[in-house]
Amino acid sequence: MNTDAPTTDPQDDGSQDGPTFADLGLRPELLQALTALGYEEPTPIQLEAIPLVAEGRDLLGQAATGTGKTAAFSLPVLQRLEAHRGGRAPVALVLVPTRELAVQVSEAFHRYGKDLGARVLPVYGGAPIVRQLRSLEAGVDVVVATPGRALDLLNRGSLRLDEIATVVLDEADEMLDMGFAEDLDAILDATPEQRQTVLFSATMPRRLDALARRHLRDPARITIAKERAAAGEAPRVRQTAYVVPRGAKPAALGRILDIEAPTAAIVFCRTREEVDTLTETLNGRGYRAEPLHGGMSQEQRDKVMGRLRSGTADLLVATDVAARGLDIEQLTHVVNYDVPSAPESYVHRIGRVGRAGREGVAITLAEPREHRMLKTIEKVAGATISVQTVPTVADLRARRLDLTRAALRESLLGDELDRFRVVVETLADEFDLMEVALAAVKLAHEAVGGADDDEEIPQVGFRPERDNARGAGGSGARGERPARRGPAGPTAKLFVGLGREAGIRPGDLVGAITGESGLRGKDIGSIEIHQRFALVEIPEPAADEVVQALRATMIKGRKATVRRDRA
Ligand code: AMP
Repeated sequence: MNTDAPTTDPQDDGSQDGPTFADLGLRPELLQALTALGYEEPTPIQLEAIPLVAEGRDLLGQAATGTGKTAAFSLPVLQRLEAHRGGRAPVALVLVPTRELAVQVSEAFHRYGKDLGARVLPVYGGAPIVRQLRSLEAGVDVVVATPGRALDLLNRGSLRLDEIATVVLDEADEMLDMGFAEDLDAILDATPEQRQTVLFSATMPRRLDALARRHLRDPARITIAKERAAAGEAPRVRQTAYVVPRGAKPAALGRILDIEAPTAAIVFCRTREEVDTLTETLNGRGYRAEPLHGGMSQEQRDKVMGRLRSGTADLLVATDVAARGLDIEQLTHVVNYDVPSAPESYVHRIGRVGRAGREGVAITLAEPREHRMLKTIEKVAGATISVQTVPTVADLRARRLDLTRAALRESLLGDELDRFRVVVETLADEFDLMEVALAAVKLAHEAVGGADDDEEIPQVGFRPERDNARGAGGSGARGERPARRGPAGPTAKLFVGLGREAGIRPGDLVGAITGESGLRGKDIGSIEIHQRFALVEIPEPAADEVVQALRATMIKGRKATVRRDRA
């Protein structure tokens, strides 16, 4: 083996023909973090927004969850941050509608900004204010807050806004819908006039224009392109989306592949890490999957393609970058393991099947919170995507029984069966013929892999678009709206094997549960944090979904034992 071969630079491996994060002028600490996270290329919204925001422009951006909008504003905000600056007052303020989003966005800032030593604090109602006060006192660079709590802290004199250089309004339409308009005005008025203001929103209603006119200065505008992919050129592709909580995705994918039985499929993931992990999981489940991403050498990629073409592998798990330019004749299915970050990328991906008059299949796994992105894709791509629930264990069993019945029928019609007659006759002395037949079917069924040992996958739908009362009062600064209510019906208690010792706080658990399942913060009941474990109360019907989802994820960077608490 030639160990002197030059190592391939993943940013320059021939497949990377679009602009890279490095082309956007991001500093090395940020590039390093992005490489470690396995991000291969900027999403369209990032490509446009990052240079503008980094240069200090005000921005009005239309983007839904799933487009990569969080990185689109947090990277340039971090870019403008003086590394390890150590001042007390925050220089960036991000306002978000819900506590879940506050946790998610501050985690994103933290992930991207840790090499810069960025100090990020999420601030939201429902959590003890004392800790937030203490952190503010110690000094932070970026505050990610819900408007109610931000105003509360501002009025107490604990949140200083006089050094704010950038304000980001994330999901601004949601904030207006929740009645935060006046709070937003009050907060923005307390920041320096020459600050930069960045506003992101999934929709652009008129009221939002008014807000933008009041607070943004000559903003650049970014809107998702509307004109691509004329319906006429759309290939013949059956398009389906399944709503799946993140933690249940590997199992759901396995089940869908079982039912679809593709000849050859390509599964698209967002990052290299996801490609590697998913390939491993699929192989562990008995599929023949091969990874393909920008971190692999040309030789490795050629080998993978060879195995797919020769039929030694039937699934290719790939990032967009790595799959660019690939043309695979026998491809029948395209699977989007995540909703693609832009409609254009959806159109590119599904364009790989349904060629030359053959029918192709496109399958998208969408998390409950990604409804809007899917709607946008439908609109822009001129596609009709039918939303289905993941096949249940019962569906799967019925399908397997169908296969067994078909095999038996074939055998009855064609095979030489006479040599087994003696077996049936002997048994018939002792048993009813029906029973003999049943036992034989069972053996045949099990022999073709029909063992019934599957776990149920939680059936979830998309989250309701808005479950917050419109215009719910706009005065005062009394903590948070909507108030934390806790579950309404029967509840279950979950045991999570991480506690105070691991630095776990209630917000971490709320963040993990709402981020990974269909639950919202207000569905979660009491949370007890003990030294080595925590107990969380959630609605009983969601318990299995949440257990699965939490098992599959990390909480505070650690894997936790999660089960129903039997105490
Ligand atoms: P957002 O639209 O901000 O909610 O982001 C959606 C998801 O995409 C998040 O899980 C991000 O970590 C991920 N993501 C954002 N940008 C990229 C990128 N350039 N490459 C891969 N994944 C990304």
